[in-house]
Parts: sequence; C-alpha cells; structure tokens
Amino acid sequence: MAAPEVKCPTCNKPVQWTKEAKFRPFCCHRCRMIDLGDWVTEGHKIPGERAVDEMMSEELAAELLRQADKP
Ligand SMILES: [Zn+2]
Repeated sequence: MAAPEVKCPTCNKPVQWTKEAKFRPFCCHRCRMIDLGDWVTEGHKIPGERAVDEMMSEELAAELLRQADKP
C-alpha cells in the first residue's frame, strides 16, 4: 500500500508520509527550518499545527498520524 502523500508547506514538493520521512510534512530539514522561522517571526501558536490545518481535515491528519505510528 502506497504511503499517503502530502505537500511540503514550504515548497509544495510532494512528501511521502512515512516514518522514514522524519521531516514530514516538510520535504527536508531546510524547509522545516524555514517554516519554523516563519513561526517565530509571525508569532504563530503551536509549531506543526498550522500546516496540518491548512492542508487537510483533522480526521485525515489523525489517520495519517495513525499510519505513521505503525511499526
Ligand atoms: Zn520543501
């Protein structure tokens, strides 16, 4: 079964949502740091929530997290 795919919030590159993708939902460490930088400068709430809220429903996000947590 193919891994769910999300788009990197920073550069919109497709990212396979697997446990190997340790920077998910970002494609790479750089994109994650860029987004974290935005958080700091823009005064967002909890890092990690914004991307999920913008990209998908909470239900889908929960499902993705469940799948990602499987061994
Ligand atoms: Zn990226």
